[in-house]
Amino acid sequence: MKLPIVRIGAPVIRRPCRAVDDQIRTDKRFPQVLKSMVDTMRGADGVGLAANQIGLDIRAIVLECRKNRRYPGAPHFKLQSWLNPRIVEASSKKKMDWEGCLSIPGYRGLVPRHSWVVVEATDLKGRQVRRRITGFEARVFQHEIDHINGRVYVDRMPNLKAWFHEEELNRLARAALNKKRKG
Ligand code: ZN
Repeated sequence: MKLPIVRIGAPVIRRPCRAVDDQIRTDKRFPQVLKSMVDTMRGADGVGLAANQIGLDIRAIVLECRKNRRYPGAPHFKLQSWLNPRIVEASSKKKMDWEGCLSIPGYRGLVPRHSWVVVEATDLKGRQVRRRITGFEARVFQHEIDHINGRVYVDRMPNLKAWFHEEELNRLARAALNKKRKG
């Protein structure tokens, strides 16, 4: 079931979420919670969603990128759900790229992120998993892990002048493209 997305300003977006313990994980309603997260992410053309974005303060995230309209050209990665994810290692090098957020609709900002991260998490069966992730997928992971810690991408921006309304950013991109064609 697709749910409304909680936007910035609501306290639940700014509060660190609590761990998903065995009691929550094995609750018979829990699969439905994760399914609602996936439906909500897909319904809003997102590439990731944290539980607090549907108002639940638990450390659960979902991610997926497949022919995404909000991030055309982004490399694909498969649907995945993680509980209690945390970054245990990260590249010293960071990369800047444009990022948006379903809880801050209509805007994009230039955000530095580690180019790779090693993440530890619990899977749906309660097993500990460890994965090394690179590129755009690593960016999305860092964005979602920030969410469950009560942070949003704007907190990571070194220069707020690189914070744009999407329509203005598109206008600039079109102008740059035209200039390139003429040049
Ligand atoms: Zn977000």
